[in-house]
Amino acid sequence: MIWHLVFTEGQYWLIIWSNVGALTYHLIPITFPRAVGTHYPNIYHNRIFDQMNSLSARDHRVIWHPYTQMKTADLPVAITRGEGVYLFDDNGNKYIDAISSWWVNLHGHAHPFLAEKVYQQAKKLEHVMFAGFTHEPAVQLAERLLPLLPGNFTKLFYSDNGSTAVEVALKMAIQYWGNRGEGTRYKAQGTSKDQGSREKEERKRQKILALRNSYHGDTFGSMSVSERGIFTLPFQDFLFEVVFIDAPTTENLPSIKDQLNALGDQVACFIYEPLIQGAGGMKMYEAESLNELLKACKQQDIICIADEVMTGFYRTGKMFASEYVMEAPDIICISKGITGGMLPMGATACTQKIYDAFLSDDRSKAFFHGHSYTANPLACAAANASLDLLHVGEFRFQLDQIIRLHTTYPTHLAVRSSRFKTKNLRRCGTILAFEIETDEKNDYLNSIGNIISRKALEAGVLLRPLGNTIYFMPPYCISKSELERIYIVTQEVLHEL
Ligand code: PMP
Repeated sequence: MIWHLVFTEGQYWLIIWSNVGALTYHLIPITFPRAVGTHYPNIYHNRIFDQMNSLSARDHRVIWHPYTQMKTADLPVAITRGEGVYLFDDNGNKYIDAISSWWVNLHGHAHPFLAEKVYQQAKKLEHVMFAGFTHEPAVQLAERLLPLLPGNFTKLFYSDNGSTAVEVALKMAIQYWGNRGEGTRYKAQGTSKDQGSREKEERKRQKILALRNSYHGDTFGSMSVSERGIFTLPFQDFLFEVVFIDAPTTENLPSIKDQLNALGDQVACFIYEPLIQGAGGMKMYEAESLNELLKACKQQDIICIADEVMTGFYRTGKMFASEYVMEAPDIICISKGITGGMLPMGATACTQKIYDAFLSDDRSKAFFHGHSYTANPLACAAANASLDLLHVGEFRFQLDQIIRLHTTYPTHLAVRSSRFKTKNLRRCGTILAFEIETDEKNDYLNSIGNIISRKALEAGVLLRPLGNTIYFMPPYCISKSELERIYIVTQEVLHEL
């Protein structure tokens, strides 16, 4: 524990720094008799004053960060600007963003083309409610996106983020069956007095199917279809029931198909992250087995929902992971890379068959869902601009370079030995992942992840392992030498453990 006395804001303060677990401090205002106060020299004034007023310290006073144990976490790194693959902090350090800032960034930070397009749009129209109104950027984006999506999608529904894109998909699927008179149905509405005692009259299409180890978001619906684990533990009693099956493999397919046949028309929809379960630890599974599973679902008329929130926009090497699979989804959720990482946005596309089930003279069959910022024009402008960048010639070269370089990674692994063994090296397009064997459990809470990210950051690389799973998912603008720098730093960090 260290203490300092500082004078600021017309007041002396005793700052007690504690470095147990994480660096924290307490501020105690001190009142001196006037004469004494004036004799205290400002020895530490500048340094401590700077620390106290650093962005990180100010943040610590007022902000609660996501996925962070605020008691033990390091102070957040204050980022002042970004450029290309680099992020710069307020101490002049720069970091290569090896994970595209939570998987959103495609073209590099503060991309001038995206910034210009957003600026131009902001001068024209920043926002308008989307019920009863529309605008050019939203229409243009839907016109451009729908033909690029992997399936027969004819309608796009906008929302704000990945979780809401999933909520929308689930609600579409559930209400689809309801509107057709097959899913959850309630006796006729009657008077408001009757409504409190509405009874369920049918029990078909009540179940939702999802994969074990899945992650679909943090809202209640998206948590419900996610693995019951560390992310959902405190809320488990409040989540709706879901039938979980293992990610499909050649071995387990026959038993999964038996299960599906037994459930038959009880299942409303099946939601899956195609090919890679991201937050579940970058677990990869085969396209062929997924295809078989989707075929079996379709035989039962089960609505298939592809959650491409992470895999979309070329992360797997193709525009969408579903392109590796013959059977197309009925609904697809996209977000993250949709705006190139510039602004938040989610979108859910569906086939005409789903959409048609909502068309009715009965107004209660409309889709009652919408967010204040639905189809925000600035986000749509960013998304249109990002699509432009995905079509320029050098994008292909960049993409292929990342995929090719990732195949050289085992060579780097072999060069250095480490106290800890690595295992399960796997790649899919621009994503590479492997695990570190430690004495702890193979999961998100494995403490090695924090140690690695801290050391990598000191060496100028932003990694954020999922527990003991390290992965790379760089923005596409990364150069060969920058990607190799990520590999080298990772190996050096592992070597030093
Ligand atoms: N689905 C998948 C597959 C995701 O990876 C994520 C976020 N990591 C989400 C949904 C939720 O997205 P958001 O964080 O934007 O709500």
